Amino acid sequence: MSARDRYSASLMNTFGPPQLVLTRGKGARVWDEDGNEYVDLLGGIAVNALGHAHPAVVEAVTRQLSTLGHVSNFFATDPQITLAERLLDLIAPRRVGEAAHQGSGRGGFRGKVFLANSGTEANEAALKLTRLTGRTHLVAAEGSFHGRTMGALALTSKAAYREPFEPLPGDVTFVPYGDPEALREAVTDRTAAVVLEPIQGEAGVVEAPMGYLETARTVTRDHGALLWLDEVQTGIGRTGAWLAAAGDPDVAPDVVTLAKGLGGGLPIGACVGLGAAGDLLQPGHHGTTFGGNPVACAAALAVLDTIDDDGLLEHAGVLGERIRAGVADDPRVTSVRGRGLLIGIDVAVDAPRVVSAARTGGFIVNATGPHTLRLAPPLVLGDDEVEQFLAAWPGMLDRAADEQGATA
Ligand code: PLP
Repeated sequence: MSARDRYSASLMNTFGPPQLVLTRGKGARVWDEDGNEYVDLLGGIAVNALGHAHPAVVEAVTRQLSTLGHVSNFFATDPQITLAERLLDLIAPRRVGEAAHQGSGRGGFRGKVFLANSGTEANEAALKLTRLTGRTHLVAAEGSFHGRTMGALALTSKAAYREPFEPLPGDVTFVPYGDPEALREAVTDRTAAVVLEPIQGEAGVVEAPMGYLETARTVTRDHGALLWLDEVQTGIGRTGAWLAAAGDPDVAPDVVTLAKGLGGGLPIGACVGLGAAGDLLQPGHHGTTFGGNPVACAAALAVLDTIDDDGLLEHAGVLGERIRAGVADDPRVTSVRGRGLLIGIDVAVDAPRVVSAARTGGFIVNATGPHTLRLAPPLVLGDDEVEQFLAAWPGMLDRAADEQGATA
């Protein structure tokens, strides 16, 4: 029986048939069960920040697992504490001379972190946190994706994801993404929080227009509501900066959620409450068995150190520009968006066919819509891999167009 048949026979059909059965990876490359090699331009959907089998992650995980693998949340570990401090350093940097536990930040102290195991769980924690303001009304954006658990799904706009599971937790108003007037109208003194992605990833890499997040800050502040940025996809170097917007003092969110790239492939998520928002969740309010697990935290620390040590923020910025400019040269490309290595490309041909043509040519890319592709490669992607992709790009579009023509 093939691995694909065994997959269909044993795994719930939540994702449809797998495109490939992968057996190993190294850097930005993966190999399938037949030994075919691919340049991985999706990186586990913006997860494998350091690519596959990065020695720093392997070493950190191995060392931690052979020292202390899991302790439960009755106990603390150093990787968990250090990671929380490092995340606060990224979002709300300390003043010179200030100790990690002291605060310069909003509300008199920097904030606090809740560690979870995924993006949806980070958002679930954030959603519960917003309820502790005493308000229930939430404002989210059309085109948003915040995860698949019931709370995160309530904030996710796509009808096909929501409708089979309704009723979802209620009191959510969806506004057109990027429209400051709509936001002003929707937020009232009963609003607990506004939740926004700085760049909508699943919607096809749609950036917030200039000034939109600043407006969200002003509007929420005026109404005593929290501003919550979901940086699950955009955070941890993906856009060529540590955070797409959460570190910007003019945006200064109250809550930031992170996951994906943070663990470099290990499951981890974080809900960061800045200033007073960091003190809303109190004993008994929320919990998780695995969240804060020292192995996942050690992996995350290795990711943060390596991004820093190897200059990967700048690298992501430079390679992202090169890819955007390179793909845009083809006349069948109608729009190119994104920042750093989070890239959306609209094509005049059928995007799923481009995905399969790319795969045939040895590249993994992703379609977020009928005419939209997304790239979210490892931040360690090499110049040679970019050149290889750009050289193959027109051929992929030719092939997709030919196939489309053949079936039209
Ligand atoms: N939030 C955003 C912005 C995402 O892009 C995703 C996943 O794509 C999630 C939340 C959910 O994360 P996870 O799949 O780890 O639950």
